[in-house]
Amino acid sequence: MFTLPELPYAYNALEPFIDETTMKIHHDKHHAAYIKNANDALTGLDAFSQMPVETLLTKLEDLPENIRTKVKNNAGGHFNHSLFWMMMSPNPKGALRQAQDDLGIAINKAFGSFEKFQELFTVSTLSRFGSGWVWLVLNKGALEVVDTPNQDSPLSEGKTPILGLDVWEHAYYLKYQNMRAEYVKAWWNVVNWKEVSDRYGRID
Ligand code: MN
Repeated sequence: MFTLPELPYAYNALEPFIDETTMKIHHDKHHAAYIKNANDALTGLDAFSQMPVETLLTKLEDLPENIRTKVKNNAGGHFNHSLFWMMMSPNPKGALRQAQDDLGIAINKAFGSFEKFQELFTVSTLSRFGSGWVWLVLNKGALEVVDTPNQDSPLSEGKTPILGLDVWEHAYYLKYQNMRAEYVKAWWNVVNWKEVSDRYGRID
């Protein structure tokens, strides 16, 4: 059984970049619904419902076929949002990213510079058609920017996400309407680089 993690900050903590109402609906309604639906789908399948969600998402093909899509969408939604809340901070101490940290060095090496990484990530958010996510992932030791449709998780493709941005309209429509680019621009202000760096450092 999955349970809804509490936000690590207040609903209004990311203002003015991400508004309070969006955060409240996004966490209390959308994320909660993914969890309810994942738990419903896995009822009676203890071998799967007891797994950490990260593990479950790497074993989708082992699930009974009639629930596979529902679990992919909803356990994926649960994992993706749990990560997303952690990737933002009202006091992003690492916002002035230290280029000498391991992640900074790896980003420079993979993309040429931090600015080029940001540009590539932003372009990916704008070219993702419809609902989905854009990620910075580690794929066989290499940093890559990838996007996924719906709630598909990079974990299911063997990639480890270390930063993710939700570009579903529910993530921004109340404040930014159809202006996804404005939302993405604002979001860079609340990226919790310390958490992203720590996560990168924890990967084996
Ligand atoms: Mn969302």
